[in-house]
Amino acid sequence: MTFPTAIVPDTLSLIGNTPLVRLKGPSEASGCDIFGKCEFTNPGASVKDRAALFIVEDAEQRGALQPGGTIVEGTAGNTGIGLALVANAKGYRTIIVMPETQSREKMDTLRALGAELVLVPAAPYSSPCHFVHTSRRIAEETPGAVWANQFDNIANRRAHIVGTAEEIWTQLEGRVDGFTCAVGTGGTLAGVGLGLKAHDEGVTIALTDPYGAALYDYYAHGELKSEGSSVAEGIGQGRITANLEGAPIDTQYRVSDAEGYEWVRRLLDEEGLCLGLSSGINVAGAVRLGRDLGPGKRVATILCDTGFRYLSTLHDPAWRAEKGLDRAVA
Ligand code: PMP
Repeated sequence: MTFPTAIVPDTLSLIGNTPLVRLKGPSEASGCDIFGKCEFTNPGASVKDRAALFIVEDAEQRGALQPGGTIVEGTAGNTGIGLALVANAKGYRTIIVMPETQSREKMDTLRALGAELVLVPAAPYSSPCHFVHTSRRIAEETPGAVWANQFDNIANRRAHIVGTAEEIWTQLEGRVDGFTCAVGTGGTLAGVGLGLKAHDEGVTIALTDPYGAALYDYYAHGELKSEGSSVAEGIGQGRITANLEGAPIDTQYRVSDAEGYEWVRRLLDEEGLCLGLSSGINVAGAVRLGRDLGPGKRVATILCDTGFRYLSTLHDPAWRAEKGLDRAVA
């Protein structure tokens, strides 16, 4: 049994310093030690609280965000939740633009936090209606507003260079052989990659890409190209964001929703961990990286958010049947 040792002064101090758990099934499957960074223990229950805090504090330091100001962002949901809680703790308003395809739990959480929610139809990035472009327009038209711009604002990846990577390095006592995760903005993968490589160039950094994203082909063959599709929320990128620029990627894996969901299922049934699909895809990538690195190696990945955010989707048998996920696993 370990006990927390200090009182934290406020909510924002609860962001980061997340536990690292050894995952039994994935470790056995790979012959390695696979560790999951428990980002669901952040106050907004996802990895994106870290980026939200750094983006807001960067805007404050630049003078772009003044007392009583408004933070506007386009997001799959988790960044919006992080921004809304940081904004509430600091006295700002939030306007969150989100595709209407995201889970109801994320929308309800944003409304509960008092964010103004703007739902837009799912549209390709090239469309002016895409949630990112809509959020930029709203920020430009709203007096006293800043656009968080998580995809191309590198305050995002800084949160992972100085936070997540340092924590993993310390928690594993400097014995890390590999790290992998999927990409939404790329802040986590690039930030943790850069942070770990600064300690040890020999750490292998791997991209784990879902189908429907274009990065696997980019890092494998130098061409942004996608095939297939994924129902995973929060991941799947079609371009090199500013956060991804210069990311030290050594190798890459492409993981199907079925393979990711199998790990979500197993971690729930065998280890009592309730996660979302991006975490399952990350764990599948970590198992592959572990197998490639060889027996006894130590591989870390990200458990991005809580599965309680997907009770109406991934954890609902009817939804899975509609998406063909159960069939794929059976
Ligand atoms: N998983 C989930 C559930 C997310 O919401 C996100 C963020 N969009 C990610 C993974 C990917 O994180 P990043 O933006 O740092 O690439």
